[in-house]
Order: sequence, then C-alpha cells, then structure tokens
Amino acid sequence: MLQVQGLKKHFGKLEVLNGIDIDIHKGEVVAVIGPSGSGKSTFIRCLNRLEEPTDGKIIFEGQQINTKKTNIDLIRRKIGMVFQNFNLFRNMTILQNITASPINVKHMPKEEAEELALRLLDRVGLKDKAQEYPVRLSGGQQQRVAIARALAMEPDILLFDEPTSALDPEMVGEVLNVMKELAEEGMTMIVVTHEMGFAREVSDRVIFIDKGIIQEENEPEEFFTNPKNERLREFLNKVL
Ligand code: ADP
Ligand code: MG
Repeated sequence: MLQVQGLKKHFGKLEVLNGIDIDIHKGEVVAVIGPSGSGKSTFIRCLNRLEEPTDGKIIFEGQQINTKKTNIDLIRRKIGMVFQNFNLFRNMTILQNITASPINVKHMPKEEAEELALRLLDRVGLKDKAQEYPVRLSGGQQQRVAIARALAMEPDILLFDEPTSALDPEMVGEVLNVMKELAEEGMTMIVVTHEMGFAREVSDRVIFIDKGIIQEENEPEEFFTNPKNERLREFLNKVL
C-alpha cells in the first residue's frame, strides 16, 4: 500500500531523516518508537505531505505522491491523520467537526454526512456528544472524536502521532481500545507511540527510529524480547 524509499528530510542544516526505507502492507499495523526528537513525527508527516521530503520516494497505492503534480487533497483524503493534541475545531460542534471535510472536500450531501458522523460517533462510544463543543469533552473523548473525524473521510491508511501522549493516564485505555478495534477490523495503521503494551499487543511490526534511520524492525515479540541494536536496548531499558 505504501512504499517509502530513501526518505530524507532536512530542516536547513539539521538532518532529521537520513534515508528511511519501509513497505507498509494493506491491513498492517506498524508501531513506530524512538527517542524524543528522533524524527518520528517528521517521518509520518512526510507521508501525507504535511512536510515536504528533501529526498526519496513515497509511493502510495502504486503512485509516487511526492511530486509537484501530486494532488495533495486527494492524498490527504486517503491518508488520514490523528494528532497528539486532537486538533478539533473549537468553534464547531462534534457533529460539525466530523461532517466538515466530507461535505467540503468530498461534496457529500449534508444529511448523508451527518448520518455517517453519527454512525462513527456510535462506533467510538460518543453518539450522545454530537451537539456538544470540544471544550466540553475530556481529552480521551476529544481524541475519539478526532479518530471518528479521520474515519469520516474513509481513508485507506491512518497515521497516528502519539495519540495518547497528551491524555491523563485514566483516558489512555479508551483511546487505545478504539485503535485496537480498528486494527482488528483490518485498518492499515502507522502509530507513533510510547505505549509499549499497545505496540507489543496490537502491532504486526515495530520499527525503532533513531539518528534519522530505522535502526531495527521486527515483529513485536522478537523486537521486545530480543532487541539486537544497542541503542534500542538502551531505549527499552529506559522505557520498560
Ligand atoms: P519526534 O517526533 O521523534 O520527537 P520530530 O520529528 O518532531 O521528532 O523532530 C525531529 C527533529 O526535527 C527535532 O530536532 C526537531 O526540533 C526538528 N524539527 C521538527 N520540525 C521542524 C521544523 N518544522 N523546523 C525545524 N526543525 C524541526
Ligand atoms: Mg513527535
């Protein structure tokens, strides 16, 4: 579904990504871990062109998407993103947050978009919050809305950038549960996370990014029980 070849991203002299190569298959859940500042966010932001890669190729469903000709709107429709800080529109109700893109970008009729939004809200356990504003919801609820909003565009792949890092501990589980259900339903997902339990339980593959490259990648059991890279060992010793 997604092939990343020799991806580099430099901010001026700062070389954040120095050649990332990875293939993501349909239905796969890939967890991305690594130290703070190692380029995890930059990596997934390059995948839907929130950042412009400096070099390398991103090929999505057979088509290179980091070219001048690429229709970025189309890419953003198919590659959904969930952010650490939810990024809901504060001046819109929950329902409006979810229907905005289907209506404005996909030109879906309003009624149909609202039906879809209510179905998605039901799926994340928040149907009764449709008419509320984001500020009235807890962080965990806001993040579940953000997931519903991403799903409303019917993306082929969902990118998550530390979706539970801004949450109070008691709310982490409700968001991870929604993500776990999505994974079980076959959604293709790339998840930057510090939740090692989630990475181990839910992902099909874990990658460790450090110093601008993928230092290690493996299926979760082997990744966590038998890490080979020295820096990964140090990292796991600190976080586990
Ligand atoms: P991570 O998500 O792994 O914590 P980031 O991808 O956010 O790491 O950042 C990697 C490095 O790139 C950091 O040194 C950060 O300061 C730098 N960086 C990120 N975004 C920008 C930007 N827009 N301009 C300049 N430097 C940036
Ligand atoms: Mg980050």
